[in-house]
Amino acid sequence: MRIYGKLYINGQWVTPNGTDTNEVVSPSTLKAVARVPYGNATDVDTAVKAARGAFASWSATSSAQRAKYLEAIAQEMQKRIPDFEATMVEELGMPIALADDWQISGPIAACRDYARRSAFMDKTEEVGNVLIVKEPVGVCAFINPWNYPLHQMIGKMAPALAAGCTMVVKASSQTPSHAFILAEVIDAVGLPAGVFNLVHGSGRVMGESMCSHPEVDMVSFTGSTSAGIKIAEAAAPTVKRVCQELGGKSPYIITADADLQKAVVYGVEDVMVNTGQTCTALTRMLVPRSRYEEAVQIAKVHAESLVVGDPLDKASYMGPMSSQSQRETVLDYINKGVAEGARLVTGGTDLPAGIESGAYVRPTIFADVNNQMSIAQEEIFGPVMTMIPYDTLDEAITIANDTIYGLSSGVYAKDKAAAVAIARRIRAGQCYTNGGGFSYQAPFGGYKQSGNGREWGDEGMGEFMETKSILM
Ligand code: NAD
Repeated sequence: MRIYGKLYINGQWVTPNGTDTNEVVSPSTLKAVARVPYGNATDVDTAVKAARGAFASWSATSSAQRAKYLEAIAQEMQKRIPDFEATMVEELGMPIALADDWQISGPIAACRDYARRSAFMDKTEEVGNVLIVKEPVGVCAFINPWNYPLHQMIGKMAPALAAGCTMVVKASSQTPSHAFILAEVIDAVGLPAGVFNLVHGSGRVMGESMCSHPEVDMVSFTGSTSAGIKIAEAAAPTVKRVCQELGGKSPYIITADADLQKAVVYGVEDVMVNTGQTCTALTRMLVPRSRYEEAVQIAKVHAESLVVGDPLDKASYMGPMSSQSQRETVLDYINKGVAEGARLVTGGTDLPAGIESGAYVRPTIFADVNNQMSIAQEEIFGPVMTMIPYDTLDEAITIANDTIYGLSSGVYAKDKAAAVAIARRIRAGQCYTNGGGFSYQAPFGGYKQSGNGREWGDEGMGEFMETKSILM
């Protein structure tokens, strides 16, 4: 069992002012696997003041110095891969065979990428009598969810460090340990005191005091749309910049002339990986009516072939949900889908065959779904895919865009040109065409109620910059 008793503030491990603790239960064994401290608003205040104190000197470092620190952080993270991996398996339930690839190595590479991008801050532009320069936005508060915890942490921390910002970070209570390991990494590389501060505690208490603190200049939040709204409200009275990466209910259009087998298999795996707990999951598969039953059969066969089991078993493709309460939420949606009249093709509310306890859910496919059903409109955040028939491409695009969300989307068409033409008509921040994979070079973020920011790439760095005009 991992036990942490202190928070990392101003370059030191300190006993928190808050006295509660957070016991983390493995969703697979239902046994405690970690204990970390819960701080309170006083701890947030101490951490924010440390970040404020460090800002003047950190923001004045050269981009080359900041790049060196980011490179050193990436190197130190590399040494800690086994520790990060253990937290993903034990706290999140991510299968060991996928944990490194999906949760750890990408963020380390991205950290290196931002070392290179720190030189961005040196770029200036002269227009007439104006010199335009970039400056760091200031003290940042980062609040993260549990589904890709290290990825989300690095997506904020690395560009912010590259830009010259200082920060106070908080992880989710379901997956806190990676953040404590990251603080050990930061300590090991000797990042100047106060640049990175780790607090921990409930979203309501710690999150709200981070968002309302007058010395915080910017909040970057990843999580549910409902919490994102509360965060924006808490940040509004002090007019902070708020970057929100929120929920999704992403459409996936398969055209009549696409390779149906490849297209459906890609869609099923996209939804089921990380047990359906992916904000970009392509959970609404739109299939031409002429090929609908064929697609339903392919989806059923493939979903039933996916191995669900102990995340420590190398054969598992899907582990448990992240918690029992997340499992309950998903089962409620499966019952709702049946009650709404959708056809349960495979899956359902029983535990997967051979599993007797733990927060497991079977890969579930619903057919005969119409886009007005709650299983097509609401983010389930579990291994549940809905299949919606369409008659014309225009109708498919209308259905795709008929959602409050706009985080991601997918298209599988005959060729690249056809796929890109459809992608341009979908109102979402990303579109995965013909089986394309995630890229850390691709700006990532939502339209509509999926958020208002961009992470990764140059745009991700832009979130942490102010633009100044010097008139001569
Ligand atoms: P959540 O909104 O419940 O919690 C996210 C974080 O916010 C946690 O650290 C929590 O403690 C904190 N929090 C909760 N209420 C708060 C409040 N009132 N003030 C301040 N902080 C508060 O989300 P979750 O269940 O951890 O994660 C799942 C959600 O995250 C899904 O909706 C998913 O789509 C979304 N998500 C979005 C992205 C993206 O990049 N767009 C990525 C991953 C997850």
